[in-house]
Amino acid sequence: MGRNVNSKYWDEELETLPREELEKRQLADLQEIVQFAYDHAPYYKRSFDEAGVKPSDIKQLSDLQKFPFINKKTQRDTQGVGSFLGELAAVPEEDVVFISTSSGSTGVPTMSPFTKKDFDEFQDTESRWFWQIGMRPNDRYVHALNFSLYVGGPDVIGAQNLGALCIWGGTLPSERLLFILKTYKPTIIWTSPSYAWQLGEKALKSGYDPKKDFNIKKIIVAGELGGSIDATRKAIEDIWGAEVFDFYGLSDIFGACAAQCEYHDGLHIAENHILVETVDIHTGEILPPGETGELVFTTLRKHARPLIRFRTGDIGRIDQTPCKCGRTHGRIHILGRKDDMFIVSAVNVFPSDIEAVIREQHGITGEYLIRIFEKDFTSKYAVEIEKNNDNPKDDATVADEVSAALKARIGVKPAKVVVHPDGGLNTRSEHKSKRIIDERKLDYTI
Ligand SMILES: [Zn+2]
Repeated sequence: MGRNVNSKYWDEELETLPREELEKRQLADLQEIVQFAYDHAPYYKRSFDEAGVKPSDIKQLSDLQKFPFINKKTQRDTQGVGSFLGELAAVPEEDVVFISTSSGSTGVPTMSPFTKKDFDEFQDTESRWFWQIGMRPNDRYVHALNFSLYVGGPDVIGAQNLGALCIWGGTLPSERLLFILKTYKPTIIWTSPSYAWQLGEKALKSGYDPKKDFNIKKIIVAGELGGSIDATRKAIEDIWGAEVFDFYGLSDIFGACAAQCEYHDGLHIAENHILVETVDIHTGEILPPGETGELVFTTLRKHARPLIRFRTGDIGRIDQTPCKCGRTHGRIHILGRKDDMFIVSAVNVFPSDIEAVIREQHGITGEYLIRIFEKDFTSKYAVEIEKNNDNPKDDATVADEVSAALKARIGVKPAKVVVHPDGGLNTRSEHKSKRIIDERKLDYTI
């Protein structure tokens, strides 16, 4: 197709649009999609009317702030109402070619429909991310993600459209995946961060040297926070001798909506598709760009089911200053899920901070489990870890070291650090790992 493989960008004009130009495009698309949603999706007609706003009120990007939020619950409540696709859908079912459903954290899975054009633009965005991390047509790529209904599954088409040789690994058992890495010598693989870590460990235990016996140069990770935690990324890179790139997606929008570039300083978000707002997690009040809060996304071009002011439940910030790579699309920094955050002694604690500390410590495996519980009407946390078999220190010393490191980083000590032998924690999984157990009984929201 004649794309210059030496070009740094998949779509140079789009990726390096001056901010002003980018925002001009966002405004035109926003006006169009809000009008489209109002005209075709019964939910938006009703909610805009109730709020006393109309699409023509949008004269500049900030006018969007007058419009009501939606969230996961809105999706659940409107799904199947009036039609199969429900009241948020803005096209008839015959125009829809694909639905993904949420990988199902809690509650009823929600489905996300795509028209043919939505789907093609989704894949073009995925090609952009793959190109951004350096994938070229001569790469061999293993897509080791679950395909069943999961929105990350079809991302492989973006790599195929780019021209790479794609191996649809899915969720193969580790032995077979390692066999493929050994015999087909792929250069790039995408999986979850915990699995990238565990697969590396498994390779070592099976007698492979991941740096010599395979040819993996780049690892894409998504689905969990690890790829944005420097210590975790570094730990995976050390095992594989490969560069790790974090991708971030939402089943409600695209498989990957944002991706790291070679500078690994936040994830470039496709601002031509998604308008990002940051709001106070308690009050919903709008925050200036750069401040940390709940990320609110508006999809600018998805017609099957536009999301207008969707509260993602993810806590983070957006940096719209220029990146050294030359791309002008803002970079998001994700701290964690709102639901996972807990407060200890008035300090907001994110499991990702705990993970960063655990992964930096020597003499422990890096596996962990966090228990959040209530004592004396306040939240406490305990951490369980695994000691390496060759670590000569006694358990109490290891526990003290970890406790001190957590206090230094987070500001509050864990109530307890439990030390297990290597393999003693049952946190290793082939997909997303369950690492947080919330034992609190009080029913309050934070
Ligand atoms: Zn960049």
